[in-house]
Amino acid sequence: MSFKLHTIVKLDIKIRILTGLHIGTAETAIRIGTLDKPIIRDPIGRIYIPGSTIKGTLRSFMEKKLLLNNQIKDLILMDDDEVFKKYGRSKEEILKNLGWKRSGRFTYYHECEKIDCNVCTIFGRASDKLGVTPTRLYVNDAFIDLSDTVTINMVKDRIYEILGKSEEELEIIRKKFEGKRIYEQIHDDDYIKIIREFPTEVKGENVIDRVTSRANPRFIERLPASVAFRFEMDFHIYEDRDKDLLKNILEELYELNNIPIGGSKSRGYGKIKVETIAIDGKKIEVKDKNSYSIWVNNIVEEIFKGTSS
Ligand SMILES: [Zn+2]
Repeated sequence: MSFKLHTIVKLDIKIRILTGLHIGTAETAIRIGTLDKPIIRDPIGRIYIPGSTIKGTLRSFMEKKLLLNNQIKDLILMDDDEVFKKYGRSKEEILKNLGWKRSGRFTYYHECEKIDCNVCTIFGRASDKLGVTPTRLYVNDAFIDLSDTVTINMVKDRIYEILGKSEEELEIIRKKFEGKRIYEQIHDDDYIKIIREFPTEVKGENVIDRVTSRANPRFIERLPASVAFRFEMDFHIYEDRDKDLLKNILEELYELNNIPIGGSKSRGYGKIKVETIAIDGKKIEVKDKNSYSIWVNNIVEEIFKGTSS
């Protein structure tokens, strides 16, 4: 079966973090000064949230909603030995046959080769040996949005130090970013200078060593609440069925309001609010779920009016 790409729908999303956010580098965190866990920055020092983190969050939420039934849930929570005694086959093998692959002791993710699987079609398959269906969703990295008043005001006290400009000039700098895509903002020299000096918090946390019961203090860097981020997603449309898939993923975006991202979620970190979503340049302020759903439905119907395959 061959697929013809009809069009790409462009999504531009603004989120605000409501509690401190820690998105760390891989476990081999480099110790910088007294920091055990610095937040992630790109090679030129820009703080960002990897697109893969956002995509992973959306994917695992959709897996749970659409595919995780009680049978699979029970299996995942059972001990390996218990499963083997009961079924005479390994837990890994049984779950694999049901489309779930192991990624940790009690963590599994879904991946199958069924052509009608919505999750795998939207998010793609790592081992796309069969080239079953082309991936629909591509998520770019999220960067701090300096067109946002609250966010840029966080560097108010230091703007002279950073740019040699006065507090009053901050609004002029912000206006420069207004109406720009995030990928236009991040290449601006002022943007890079501000983000490199953007204030973060360092929190000490006690981690109890499970073996020795000794408390190990470690220092975690996090972004303070209220920072706004923006990111873009591309949704590829191949066939009529993609109308429902696009609706699915847009509904899912609303759920980011309910799923924290990043590290130390159990300590209350990483809660976010979805503020605005623009689809092909048409923007909505996201308020309640109901009005958002109606808007999504209308806009998707409109997009598909012109692309019948
Ligand atoms: Zn699947």
